[in-house]
Amino acid sequence: MDLKGLVRDVPDFPKEGIVFRDITTILQSPKGLKWAIETMEKSLKDIEFDYIIGPESRGFIFGVPLAYNLGKGFIPVRKEGKLPYKTKRKEYDLEYGTAVIEIHTDAFKPGQKVVIVDDLLATGGTSKATIDLVEEMGGEVVKLVYLIELDFLKGRDLLKGYNVTSLINYD
Ligand code: IMP
Repeated sequence: MDLKGLVRDVPDFPKEGIVFRDITTILQSPKGLKWAIETMEKSLKDIEFDYIIGPESRGFIFGVPLAYNLGKGFIPVRKEGKLPYKTKRKEYDLEYGTAVIEIHTDAFKPGQKVVIVDDLLATGGTSKATIDLVEEMGGEVVKLVYLIELDFLKGRDLLKGYNVTSLINYD
């Protein structure tokens, strides 16, 4: 299936010179959505794990159906100040300035295995910060799955040593 053909390219969003890869057009397509979830799911068939972790907000969209279909729990990673219970936080660098993500301190137990799911791998900053949170809490990241990877931003370099799968690539 031509899933790439369902991605909408939006020039100059969120700022001039950036081509935003909009996945709402995949979500809108019953066939596209089904193919995306099923193909992400296939990449997990030989992986043993306890939870799927999805970063806010598009990580929720793909992470929850995968967790549901595979009979696992889902753990949200959110932007600062959104999670109601005790949290562990991680600050990480953006192109301009920094951002903070948080996870509930009781989201999983030390020694448990997690898979990180997001819509898109760009520089890898969000994923690396999520990996750091998981590892600082004693968890193990056994796989990362993305719908889209912007290869030219070399996010994989930041994720060296981890098992990474993406379904659609932009060189
Ligand atoms: P990174 O931390 O640089 O890898 O950026 C990845 C995060 O930014 C993901 O959570 C994406 O949802 C978001 N993102 C960056 N660029 C795009 C894009 O072109 N389309 C959709 N999301 C994007």
